[in-house]
Amino acid sequence: MEVIRNARVMQQTVKEYLQRGSSIGFVPTMGALHGGHMSLVQRCREENDVSVVSIFVNPIQFGPSEDFSSYPRNTEDDAAKLQEAGVDILFMPGVEDMYPEGFATFVEVERLSDRLCGRFRPGHFRGVATVVTKLLNIVRPSRAYFGQKDYQQALIIKQVVRDLNIETETVVCPTVREADGLAMSSRNLYLSPRERKAAAVIYRTLCRARDMVLGAECSLSDVKNLMEEALSAEPLVDEVEYASAFDPETLEDICSRDVTIYRKGRVLLAAAVRIGRARLIDNELVDMTAQEEAA
Ligand code: AMP
Repeated sequence: MEVIRNARVMQQTVKEYLQRGSSIGFVPTMGALHGGHMSLVQRCREENDVSVVSIFVNPIQFGPSEDFSSYPRNTEDDAAKLQEAGVDILFMPGVEDMYPEGFATFVEVERLSDRLCGRFRPGHFRGVATVVTKLLNIVRPSRAYFGQKDYQQALIIKQVVRDLNIETETVVCPTVREADGLAMSSRNLYLSPRERKAAAVIYRTLCRARDMVLGAECSLSDVKNLMEEALSAEPLVDEVEYASAFDPETLEDICSRDVTIYRKGRVLLAAAVRIGRARLIDNELVDMTAQEEAA
């Protein structure tokens, strides 16, 4: 595995692969790699001639009171995992390389960035959209791989790719979970053993909400109430930032809408909670069209 720490070298290397007609697959990450990341890496390897993984903890997507400086960094372990998985190139640019003095251009996706996590993390998605645009311009992949766990992020990146005519296919991969259902996340490392156990409430609640949506008579506001109550009932949950049903394309909260409209469509159930030092998110996409077809 080749390790590249400089954007210009990465661009030159990519150019050589592209001239040879190789397809490039790309997995952008912030490191502290776990099974979720590695599922993206595996899919990337299967579908492309050359696989590139980046590790870059992007300062501009963290708010001033967020965990940028304490974000877990395990570069040696990460490199060993990627090498073992057969990745061709590990790209680890420095902050000064990505944001040299005088850097002044940002990518802002309207509307989608203000909803769900955007309400609680102002500027977060501007930072994400900017860094991913830069990375896609540097790596120029045929396909880039993202996790459904960060549903809003994947949706925003798809919008960027469409709006800015970037020639990359964005592939969204299923959420990988621990045995008790907790979505794998680098931030799970912040949890104490008791908190880690309590965190299973998130996915348990999403599953109950999903069953409720799929079941007979209920309104989406009942679903929202169930989610908020079930999450708040866990004593180690310090705050429920949001827990509701959303339109999976616009990310609007749809709980006050007529439920019959959504009986025929798709509903995104999503939640963000704080447990101790960790802010954890998860979601479940409920597809009523699949159910109708099966019936
Ligand atoms: P991060 O390092 O947290 O920025 O994540 C890098 C990529 O891995 C993003 O596209 C995430 O959505 C994806 N990812 C993170 N956790 C999971 C998971 N549990 N399952 C699948 N993909 C994930």
